[in-house]
Amino acid sequence: MAEEAPGALGPCPTVPGLGCGESPNTQDSASNTRPAAAMPGEMDKPLISRCLVDSDGSLAEAPSEAPRVGILGSGDFARSLATRLVCSGFSVVVGSRNPKRSAGLFPSAVQVTFQEEAVSSPEVIFVAVYREHYSSLCGLNDQLTGKILVDVSNPTEREHLRHRESNAEYLASLFPTCTVVKAFNVISAWTLQSGPRDGNRQVPVCGDQPEAKRVVSEMAHAMGFMPMDMGSLATAREVEALPLRLLPGWKVPTLLALGLFVCFYAYNFVRDVLHPYVQEGKNRFYKLPVSVVNTTLPCVAYVLLSLVYLPGVLAAALQLQRGTKYSRFPDWLDHWLQHRKQIGLLSFFCAALHALYSFCLPLRRSHRYELVNLAVKQVLANKSHLWVEEEVWRMEIYLSLGVLALGTLSLLAVTSLPSIANSLNWREFSFVQSTLGFVALVLSTLHTLTYGWTRAFEESRYKFYLPPTFTLTLLVPCVVILAKGLFFLPCLSRRLARIRRGWEKGSALKFTPPTDHAPVEKTSHV
Ligand code: NAP
Repeated sequence: MAEEAPGALGPCPTVPGLGCGESPNTQDSASNTRPAAAMPGEMDKPLISRCLVDSDGSLAEAPSEAPRVGILGSGDFARSLATRLVCSGFSVVVGSRNPKRSAGLFPSAVQVTFQEEAVSSPEVIFVAVYREHYSSLCGLNDQLTGKILVDVSNPTEREHLRHRESNAEYLASLFPTCTVVKAFNVISAWTLQSGPRDGNRQVPVCGDQPEAKRVVSEMAHAMGFMPMDMGSLATAREVEALPLRLLPGWKVPTLLALGLFVCFYAYNFVRDVLHPYVQEGKNRFYKLPVSVVNTTLPCVAYVLLSLVYLPGVLAAALQLQRGTKYSRFPDWLDHWLQHRKQIGLLSFFCAALHALYSFCLPLRRSHRYELVNLAVKQVLANKSHLWVEEEVWRMEIYLSLGVLALGTLSLLAVTSLPSIANSLNWREFSFVQSTLGFVALVLSTLHTLTYGWTRAFEESRYKFYLPPTFTLTLLVPCVVILAKGLFFLPCLSRRLARIRRGWEKGSALKFTPPTDHAPVEKTSHV
């Protein structure tokens, strides 16, 4: 479903020099600017309608004066910002050290001039230059007095570690007569260019003056972004660290998945490749790229999926033992609980890869040779018809359960996307993530069991006395399923439900569970 840009039909922004009756609109700026339709791509579509909505909901022509905004710097960010501002109905003036050279890079709607001239009239000025060049702007101190400076800069990781003071605080120290607001640093030039519909929409805003923050927030809103108040300028360092983060929350789950993969791969290598080589002198090293990987991936996916539900079981056990939900979980359990989404997504990733690899198995040349050899053996043994009923059924059920498990996992993965998750209410979300997740675990267990069938009881399957891999993978999931089953016992589920509604062991308060009290899973908020 297409999302509407916030602010597109909202109240008009109030920017200095722009009362609510003076809303930005592209039509009005058309007299001194090029129409937005002349700009390329997404920029053709202004985020703020040329017409604004009246209090009665009807469309009204906007008044003529467009608010003026200044930008210092004429680089990539300044260009995208200027274009987006013009499309959002602002009049933009860019201050450059060399306006003649830079002017051609901007839409003709934007006025490009010398820095001194650019900062003279606007009340809000974006500083789109790097920190090391801030001091070169000190000559503008007098003209900038009393104005709002928006610091959009991002330090590199090295700069972030080197300077204890944020870029915004440094800018504020250079221009003590100005009000500095940190904003837009998390928005890339690309997002500005392509429009917030395609990229990150949140804009953290921080500053010491609430009025200045409000002005900048309204500008962000008018441009189609979602401003988030992050507090005073002291938090600017934190805001500047946001774009430096690389997939936060994924490190431990990824290392866990990699660790499991290496362990299972080594185990399968010993059983499927090394054992035939040592015992029978057979060269099975060709199995390393596909076959061994394909036997390893489901093991990782399955164990990871059980690790999504194991911390919930441990948390429930702890709550039962302590008789309260008000004591903190140990840190390791807390972290584990917070990483369940990433672990689940990695499990889905491995399961999807396993499905792809399985599709490719019959395409391999080795597989064709094996089939031909089998057929020849059949002919030589004078057997015309090979059909093992039990094997046929096992394979049919095994495949069907695998497909169902993967389908359920896909549903879990899709609903963990923020845009989908936000459209579900808590009950729907918990049904998908908790109930369907558990169903996926049960289906995967059945899939594994039908794969194993009677193999766990055949002596020949124990290579170097090592049990088949699937028996190892069953350990944790079976513990989780058994524990979940135990928690469904009335004596435990009632106690758990009471604890999760605030009852405490030893408390003098009497607790009467509501008559429609839901089973454990529906009230689980661990
Ligand atoms: P850029 O392309 O290198 O532009 C920097 C501009 O700074 C130059 O075009 C230059 O314009 C101006 N400048 C002013 N004084 C200068 C001096 N003494 N020496 C050199 N240049 C001077 O960089 P950018 O990508 O636009 O980034 C600008 C700021 O935006 C940076 O702080 C960056 O962290 C931030 N930012 C960028 C992005 C992005 O996607 N690019 C995203 C978020 C934040 P004149 O020559 O016309 O004066």
